Amino acid sequence: MSENSFDVIVIGGGPGGYVAAVRAAQLGRSTAVVERDKAGGRCLNYACIPAKTMLHTAEVFDHSKNSGDIGVKAQGVELDWQALGRRRTDVSAGLEGGVKGLLKKNGVELIEGEASLTEDGSVKVGDTVYEAEKVILATGSVAQSIPGVEFSDRVLDTWAAWSLPEQPESIAVAGAGASGAEIASAYIRFGTEVTLIEMLDQILPAEDKDLARVVERTFKKQGIEVSTGTPVEKVEVGPDSVKLSYGDNSIEVDYLVIAGGRRPDTDPLGLEAAGVKLDENGKVDVDENQVTSNGRIYAIGDLVRGPALAHKAQEEGIVAAEHAAGEKTHPLDLNLIPGATFCQPQVASVGLTEAQAKEAGHDIKTSKFKLGGVGAGTVYDDRDGIVKLVVDTEYGEILGAHVVGNRACDMISELVNTIALEGGYQELARIIHPHPTISEAIPEAARAVDGWATHA
Ligand SMILES: Cc1cc2nc3c(=O)[nH]c(=O)nc-3n(C[C@H](O)[C@H](O)[C@H](O)COP(=O)(O)OP(=O)(O)OC[C@H]3O[C@@H](n4cnc5c(N)ncnc54)[C@H](O)[C@@H]3O)c2cc1C
Repeated sequence: MSENSFDVIVIGGGPGGYVAAVRAAQLGRSTAVVERDKAGGRCLNYACIPAKTMLHTAEVFDHSKNSGDIGVKAQGVELDWQALGRRRTDVSAGLEGGVKGLLKKNGVELIEGEASLTEDGSVKVGDTVYEAEKVILATGSVAQSIPGVEFSDRVLDTWAAWSLPEQPESIAVAGAGASGAEIASAYIRFGTEVTLIEMLDQILPAEDKDLARVVERTFKKQGIEVSTGTPVEKVEVGPDSVKLSYGDNSIEVDYLVIAGGRRPDTDPLGLEAAGVKLDENGKVDVDENQVTSNGRIYAIGDLVRGPALAHKAQEEGIVAAEHAAGEKTHPLDLNLIPGATFCQPQVASVGLTEAQAKEAGHDIKTSKFKLGGVGAGTVYDDRDGIVKLVVDTEYGEILGAHVVGNRACDMISELVNTIALEGGYQELARIIHPHPTISEAIPEAARAVDGWATHA
């Protein structure tokens, strides 16, 4: 085999791409990843990881200032924005190095540059054409603004919002999905004035209404100005501020953050010439094994249907690599991809909301159990959250599980496991949980379906 020829070439070194490459190499395929920017992709360098690093500091800062009533009196607590920025950069750089190390350890070649597909499905980087038996597209997605508004120094995408050189006095966030809620939640705790504007009728529109309500209440208590059912309109960008209106309100803020949609990053790839078709939503069309309309080419991650989440991209990478290697694989169940929003309180969910389950025609029962019902809720000051279950009446199948609370994103995995292993709420109700932990609320929520939660 020549040095420009591989069994598998992955385009894009994000969470989907690097995991696909590692898996292909584990299966004995000669593998290369082409990346035009940084190993680890947007997730590690501009999205999930920097966002969570900033949110972690927001949490520590908030606790440091506001823990007098639990016996910690701190004076002179200050935010060091420059140190925070350095840590954000260091965390990403460290993880980027880790990804490069993983690729090297598995014998994956990292090719630097922007790749496109040739008509016969080979991969071109600069003037070099690399041949591959199979190609996996993992080029992710890019931010989209709202109609009529362009990104600029004052109108920010999510990365610009997370990497501001100085702490702003005021921001407005357009879009209260996961990213918008996280940005609002961090900045309010940093001490910035925050207005969170959502055009749909609830914040976190993808989540169950009951969970969104808990978060909205907490956001308002924290001082976030929340507006729902109000699209952002009349945006006027000045040199030092942005004026905008929503509903009957007009405000002037340092920055407007657009945390709305994203679109697949396919422009340089040359998909059409390579016979790779898009679906009706403009995403790359794939079958359950991630195979595109060109049987030699696979696509994964934000490029394809389903939620835009790093853990989904990674699992799809494994499926694509295994299928490309001719191995038996395990296609994703798109209903079992947990959503996770790391605002305070956190929100995590899997499966159907109550409204979706009803709309799909299921005969359902629901239960809600407050985290304050178990001892740990009081110990850890995590009383306001809930675990909500949506179950099918006939056999007790768990159709949806929803958690809001300080550690909801860790708690959801148990519920994903239960559903994946085909446990019903009856089994969940009998699973013993350690005491005192917030997780005790999970079997209690399961018991509550039949009205016998012991701490309600
Ligand atoms: C602010 C924010 C926070 C988020 N937080 C979370 C979170 O907490 N948890 C979570 O699960 N998800 C989160 N996400 C979503 C997550 O970032 C994406 O789902 C994930 O990055 C998708 O991974 P990917 O591998 O498909 O692509 P990406 O991470 O986008 O990586 C694609 C890579 O391909 C490269 N590339 C593109 N085109 C080419 C080309 N032609 N040639 C060579 N290289 C190319 C790019 O440079 C990039 O490095 C967040 C998103 C945002 C915007």
